[in-house]
This record gives sequence, C-alpha cells and structure tokens, in this order.
Amino acid sequence: MVYSYTLKTEKENFYNITSYVRQAVNESMVESGIAVVYCPHTTAGITINENADPDVVTDLIYALDATFPDRYQFKHAEGNSAAHLKSSVIGNSATVIIEDGRLLLGTWQGIYFTEFDGPRTRNFFVKIIKG
Ligand code: ZN
Repeated sequence: MVYSYTLKTEKENFYNITSYVRQAVNESMVESGIAVVYCPHTTAGITINENADPDVVTDLIYALDATFPDRYQFKHAEGNSAAHLKSSVIGNSATVIIEDGRLLLGTWQGIYFTEFDGPRTRNFFVKIIKG
C-alpha cells in the first residue's frame, strides 16, 4: 500500500515529515519491514537529518546555496538549475527500517522533505513493505 501526502511549500525550506511516515507505519499495522519515503519531483528531495536543533537545517540550506549558486553558464531555460542540482545531491528517497511497529530512527534523526524551488504544491509517497 502507498500512502500519499501533499505539502504546500515556501521558496526553499526543509519540512519535517517524520510524523506522516510514523502515521503510515501505524496505519499499515506492519511490525517488521521497511518504509520507503519518495519524492516525485526534480527540484525537491528527501533526506534524514537532525530534528532537535533547527539551526542545523538553516546551516544545510546555507551550505547548499553556497555550494550550488545560480551560474550564468547554466543553459536550462527554466532558470532553476541550482534547484535541480540540490535535488540530485540530496536524493529523492529515504529508506527506514521498521521493527516492533516503529521506525528505527536515531534519537536525533528526522525525515525531511526538502524544497529547493517553491513555493509549490508538492507530493510525497510512503510505501510500507512487510518483511
Ligand atoms: Zn527546471
């Protein structure tokens, strides 16, 4: 079963979607397996990182901007090549082990939807696989 979610985003931000994934795991009643979290967009992504100090996300956004600035050499007519680059580097999915009906995330880990070219209405999917 696939769980589908919609998110309204700002220009650039990380959204903690851990509670959505936990909800999907609970609804699935799967005790042991994996959860795949997938983003079907080319200028957004999915990552796992610090969930306690919000400055970490701020620093990640800053560092990604510094590493992948807009460049006049970019040819892509839509003008958002930097967002495409960030999406590729971050990746479009995360896989988390489910054991005893719970996500095996570390204490300080959260699952994030990463927006690099908002504001937009975005989707992400959670697939729970028993095993
Ligand atoms: Zn584009």
